[in-house]
Amino acid sequence: MVEVNIKDKLALDTFKPAKESHLKLNQELCRGCKVRCCLFVCPARVYTMDEQSEIHIEFEACLECGTCLIACPHNAIQWNYPQGGFGVQFRYG
Ligand code: SF4
Ligand code: SF4
Repeated sequence: MVEVNIKDKLALDTFKPAKESHLKLNQELCRGCKVRCCLFVCPARVYTMDEQSEIHIEFEACLECGTCLIACPHNAIQWNYPQGGFGVQFRYG
């Protein structure tokens, strides 16, 4: 039997990015955040931090799981589903 790991499974998904991000951050709240858990809870690594400790979002890779919204202790994430017809398309379950 062939084993399929999570990376291979994610590679089966397709993404149709919208023009505008469905995720928005309140950077002021992020600057005061000590935990920065968005950096490690997201399975798609959508959140990154630059040398100035600013958080960035690559919304195009979002799996729409909602984890970051629940995990953020400061409610700094404005989260909406992407516009109809855009976003992730899951394949094979
Ligand atoms: S999104 Fe939430 S968890 Fe991430 S840095 Fe901003 S406040 Fe912190
Ligand atoms: S919804 Fe899920 S995949 Fe999308 S940014 Fe949040 S944690 Fe990452």
